Amino acid sequence: MFWEKYNSIKIKETILEALKQNLDYRSESVLGLPATVLDPEVFYQDAPFLKDAPFMQTMVANPNHIGCHTLGESEPAFAGTQAIEKELIDICATQIFAAKIDSYDGYVASGGTEANIESLWVHRNMFMRKQGARLDEIAIVYSEDTHYSIPKGANLLQLKSIILSVDDSSREIIYEEMKQKLVEAKAGGIRFFILIMNMSTTMFGSVDDIQQCSQIMDEEELDYHIHVDGAYGGFIYPFAKPQQELTFQHSKINSFSLDAHKLVQTPYGTGICIMRKGLIENALTEEAQYVKGKDYTLIGSRSGANAIAIWMILRTYGSEGWKAKTARLIDRTDRLCQNLKERGIGFFRNPYMNIVAMRAEDIPKALVHQFQLVPDSHENDARWYKIVVMEHVSQGAIDRFLFAWDDLMHH
Ligand SMILES: *Cc1c(COP(=O)(O)O)cnc(C)c1O
Repeated sequence: MFWEKYNSIKIKETILEALKQNLDYRSESVLGLPATVLDPEVFYQDAPFLKDAPFMQTMVANPNHIGCHTLGESEPAFAGTQAIEKELIDICATQIFAAKIDSYDGYVASGGTEANIESLWVHRNMFMRKQGARLDEIAIVYSEDTHYSIPKGANLLQLKSIILSVDDSSREIIYEEMKQKLVEAKAGGIRFFILIMNMSTTMFGSVDDIQQCSQIMDEEELDYHIHVDGAYGGFIYPFAKPQQELTFQHSKINSFSLDAHKLVQTPYGTGICIMRKGLIENALTEEAQYVKGKDYTLIGSRSGANAIAIWMILRTYGSEGWKAKTARLIDRTDRLCQNLKERGIGFFRNPYMNIVAMRAEDIPKALVHQFQLVPDSHENDARWYKIVVMEHVSQGAIDRFLFAWDDLMHH
């Protein structure tokens, strides 16, 4: 896993050079595009602070990254910044998820939700077009701790859901029951399966065991492919656990979702969708005649500034710096868990993640409000409250929580 760190001068120069290669509405005759500069009364181009702010400059230049730029032709008007998006997708596919060179397609999506739905859409159409599947013969298989964007996608795409229970303490899928549900589904006419593996659930930071799950799928001789939801953990888990198995090296894994706007601290609108080459064609909208290269994405028009924001951060750290940054979050989480253990507070935590879900019965309600702990459910009685050790969750803030707990429990 390696990508080079750039200094701020190189980052700025690369982006300014890319912007130069993009179309400039002001200096060229651009008569045919349904696009223009940002409103000049509000977003004036000669604002002095823009000079040293390449991300803001990209916002104001307003490049449209519509479509997918890892295959075929793209809108030539924004080729400069689209090349940076391609480089970003390459880093994520080859360095984080061990794809071979040029063996993937991908794009910067609006978020993890879109990246997940795009991948479900691609898989559904692949089963229907390549294998003659009927809609009612395809199901999505996922644990009950899975993010709600997956059932959202199932609803939109009219696919059945097979929801797997997890063990209350380990948050691990209950394999006996999984097997049974799959046998029932098969008997009920389901012939094609999209298996979701969480590279960390949002509530618990639990990571699904691909070996166990694919063994069961194989034993039942099911026709299936795997999508990995790395929207929360994709930018931390593979760095904390370099030997992890959720990569393109696993032949059943077809696709990944990532969210930069969680752990990478980019502005919202920065999801990433990556899949094996040859798949995204299943989401091609032929009718997108006015878009050069047509459209393989769910979103349509999208700001090129989003790709620039992610690229800038990954390049500012380089892979080594990124590893060090995520290791600091893991260290802080380790220390928190140690402190919880000493106090006898029950919790779940994956050792390669920065989420700690604490048993609700061990946490006084006053602390939930004071420290804005998030419950597993806002509707039913909470059974868990979580702490997510993000950048701003300092050791001091964690200490204040622990001391407040001590005060309440001992007085
Ligand atoms: C946040 C999240 C999503 C959805 O991402 P959005 O960026 O909110 O659309 C999907 N899956 C997981 C595991 C997440 O944590």
